[in-house]
Amino acid sequence: MIDCIVVGSGLAGISFCEELRKNGKTFMVFDNDSQVSTNIAGGLYNPVILKRFTPVWKAEEQLDTALPFYAALESLLGEKFDHKIPVYRRFTSVEEQNNWFVAGDKPGLSPFIETSVHHFELPGVEAPFGYGRVLQTGRVDTEALQKAYVSYLQDTGCFRQESFQYDRLQVMNDRVIYDGIEASRVIFCEGFGMKKNPFFDYLPLNGTKGELLIIEAPELELDFVLKSSVFLIPLGERRYKVGATYKWKDKTNIPTEESRMELLTKLQSFFKGPYEVIDHVAGIRPTVADRRPLVGQHPEFSRLYCLNGLGSRGVMIAPFAAKQLYQSMYGQQEIVPEMDVERYRSKYQSTVSG
Ligand SMILES: Cc1cc2nc3c(=O)[nH]c(=O)nc-3n(C[C@H](O)[C@H](O)[C@H](O)COP(=O)(O)OP(=O)(O)OC[C@H]3O[C@@H](n4cnc5c(N)ncnc54)[C@H](O)[C@@H]3O)c2cc1C
Repeated sequence: MIDCIVVGSGLAGISFCEELRKNGKTFMVFDNDSQVSTNIAGGLYNPVILKRFTPVWKAEEQLDTALPFYAALESLLGEKFDHKIPVYRRFTSVEEQNNWFVAGDKPGLSPFIETSVHHFELPGVEAPFGYGRVLQTGRVDTEALQKAYVSYLQDTGCFRQESFQYDRLQVMNDRVIYDGIEASRVIFCEGFGMKKNPFFDYLPLNGTKGELLIIEAPELELDFVLKSSVFLIPLGERRYKVGATYKWKDKTNIPTEESRMELLTKLQSFFKGPYEVIDHVAGIRPTVADRRPLVGQHPEFSRLYCLNGLGSRGVMIAPFAAKQLYQSMYGQQEIVPEMDVERYRSKYQSTVSG
């Protein structure tokens, strides 16, 4: 008998496995590579919403959990994932500059906004109104992290590369049985894959497709993330991630010509230098109507849990949400109500009653 079966090895699954591992619990992880959000993400963590200059929900608490979490993973896996790189927002008007100064004086934002305007020259980029710098930002190489973590799980015999078949799960009052494995609980961390999960498909997981281009710009050497109409995220060797798009209808992981054109048009609106597109990727962000994660226990089957709805900011929120789930599961603390799936109990009841 093990403590947990974990379905999914994206940021949600990794974060929860780490809670289990640190607390000496036993577990088995399943992943079938059906979702790629963690694999292709930009990987940015940034406590400020740069469209409206507002703080991210519980930004300080999220960063307080996330930064030590990635540092511990770097020690565990012997590889660097967290690149502490600044983010500069390019201003397009005096009004934006003023809004930046106003935002920097607000209590929830002042730790994260440097209230001065920076002016510097970049080849191919015009910025007559300068840039504002966001503090406490960085990029986690989520692709490398997922690869290294899965390989670590494989080495420790805790990983099965296969689909979790929901109809083969036996749920009892005191345990679950799946394919000969007896466990105390199952934690579903399937990202947008949760749409196929008959236990949690009552939850309002919408899913928002995102696409990114990888470009090589031979004359541009940035050591920071540049945010204009799109993000330019440096990967080293003058390669950059450019993105991302937000689409609500298409739920496939297939890159589209329409999004490629959208990204290139936005890129060219502020970057006039030469570049070449070397890759194009797409994935579905697990987004929720009320923009809060979906964390907690199933309303009827107490052995089943979900950790999902990380939306477009999984890097920052996954470790915080996983910790909340673990602590609630072992009776140490309740989940923040805004994230708790309990808020959708009536939705479940109306689904069950038909
Ligand atoms: C284009 C794009 C850019 C992004 N940029 C950023 C960014 O800069 N910063 C940021 O913080 N976030 C970013 N995100 C969002 C981020 O990727 C997500 O919040 C996060 O990765 C979600 O993690 P997850 O573990 O919940 O889901 P996923 O990463 O989708 O992982 C779920 C896993 O479950 C597996 N799975 C599903 N169903 C089953 C099943 N039945 N059996 C077995 N395995 C199953 C899947 O194969 C997958 O590996 C971006 C997303 C996209 C699409």
